[in-house]
This record gives sequence, structure tokens and C-alpha cells, in this order.
Amino acid sequence: MKLALTIAALAVSVTPVFGADYPDRNIFMVVPYAAGGPTDTIARLTADAMSKSLGQQIVVENVAGAGGTIGARRVADADPDGYTILVHHIGMATAPALYRQLPYKPLEAFEPIGLVSDAPMTVISRADLGPESFEDLLAFIKQKGTNVTYAHAGLGAASHLCGTLFMSTIGTQMTTVPYKGNGPIMTDLIGKQIDMTCDQATNTVGPITQNQVKAYAITSDERAETLPDVRTTTEAGLPTFKLGVWHGVYAPKGTPKEIVDKLSSALRSAMEDATLNERFAQIATIPATKEQATPDALHTKLDSEIKRWDPIIKAAGEFAD
Ligand code: ASP
Repeated sequence: MKLALTIAALAVSVTPVFGADYPDRNIFMVVPYAAGGPTDTIARLTADAMSKSLGQQIVVENVAGAGGTIGARRVADADPDGYTILVHHIGMATAPALYRQLPYKPLEAFEPIGLVSDAPMTVISRADLGPESFEDLLAFIKQKGTNVTYAHAGLGAASHLCGTLFMSTIGTQMTTVPYKGNGPIMTDLIGKQIDMTCDQATNTVGPITQNQVKAYAITSDERAETLPDVRTTTEAGLPTFKLGVWHGVYAPKGTPKEIVDKLSSALRSAMEDATLNERFAQIATIPATKEQATPDALHTKLDSEIKRWDPIIKAAGEFAD
């Protein structure tokens, strides 16, 4: 009897806890846009902060193209072992309506880890574009129409949604130019190769404050502390032109719960990291709360955003294969 108990106790003590040694090597975090853009910035700050509590480095990999769908697919198809994860934004919710042949279902192909951030968009142009105020800009676009070039990061990217919303609100079409991300767009805007874009404050606070680009409005209810002179779209007379861009972290479907929990807990710690908070504040980006940085909160957000955008995109009638 005593021996049996001892054997039973031993069996319990040697049963490995699944995922107990996770992570024991680098984790790859896919960014589905080019380096130097807002998603890249958010991912790198989050990866550094999460690495601290996970005890392993999270290495960011840019897999850009097709409005973020190429990088998302890479992660959907990756081994569900916790070593390949994704940072993606609102585009995760818009892709099902926009892409006729989307090779993954956002709600089914991933394990949500948690929300990361929320940021407003800014309407910006090359520094030497004529108009000085938002009102002047509207008159300029209405007069020049398709002679004005508008850059975006691919169908379904935040810059694309923002441009679509802007053009439909003012009832004037500009010529749209797709890029692989807002990093290269910013380079061309500063280089005066392109007229305008709408980009997350995450990416624009620096170039705006250094007068490398001109800012006309911010799409939030209130002005950003770090951009005190940039009026809100409501102040500028377009109250329905509002857009906040949220980001989340995902793992491939089938990733064990123990690993999802570890990643999610590391994400919550990251949201309290002092360096991350300081940088997010500088770039007018709001970190997720403890309640938001959870699998359930991201699942609920993604589900409701897919439902919200579906009719808007179908009404706009712009689709991709
Ligand atoms: N997130 C950006 C967009 O959707 C792209 C990027 O991060 O480069 O426009």
C-alpha cells in the first residue's frame, strides 16, 4: 500500500506540465506591413516589453503585401507551437468583406491573445502642398480631384479605410496609390513624391512636429496631447469622419491553451511596462487595459468589428481577389 502510494505520488510529480518550458527559444512576431510603419512600431515596442517577462526574445519579422493578408496567412499556416505569432490591426476585421478569396477566416484561423492599442488617424500631406487649413484642403481636393494622389498600405489597411471614409464623406475621388506599408509611404511623402495620406498618429507625431509633413486634422473625439495644434475632424467640420485603429496579437489556431495564457499574461505585463507607456504616450497611442489585453476581449472586438465593417465595405463596392 505504502509502495503503491509512493509510485502514485512519483507519477504525479514527474508528469510534465504541458508548455511548462515554453518559451525556450526566440519567438517570431509577424508584422504584415513594411518596416518603419505604425504596425511595425507597435509590434517592436510590444515585442520588447513581452520579451522581458517571457525570458526569450521576440523577433519581429515584416511579411508585407496585399493589405496585410500575406503576413496574416503566414501565421494562420504556421505550426501552432507559440513560436510564430502575429500583430495585426483593424484590417483583420475588414479583410473578409474586401477579399473575395481570403485564404483564412479571421475568427477561426487564430487563437486571439489580446488587444494591444488604439490610435487615431491623422490627415497629412507633403510639406509643400498648397492648402494650409483643413477647409482649404477640402476645397483643393474638390477642385483637383484625381490629380491629387492619395497613398495607402493596401486594401483593408487603416490608411485605405481612412481614405475611403474621407473620400466618401467629401464626395470626391482622389487617385489612390497602394504601398506595402506606411513606412515607405512616409519616406515618399517626406520626399514629396506623393500628395497625401491618412496615417495613424503612431507614425505621424514625429514627422508632423518636425514639419516634415503638413497635418490637417486628427480623427479622434479629442486633440492628441502631443499634437495640440491639430484640430479634430469634428472641430474642422466633418464630425462623421472618425476612425480609431486597434491592434491585437494572435497565434495560429490550435496553439495550446497553456501557451496562449503565457503569451496573454506577457502581453498584460507589457501594457504596464514603463518604456512602452512612455513611447506610446509620445506617439498618441493608447495601450490596452488589463481587461482588453485578453483572448476574450480580442475575440469580442474582432467579431463585432467584422460585423460593423461588412455592410460599409459592401456598400463601397471595392473588392480584391
Ligand atoms: N497599419 C498601416 C495601415 O494600415 C500600415 C503599416 O503599418 O505600415 O495603413
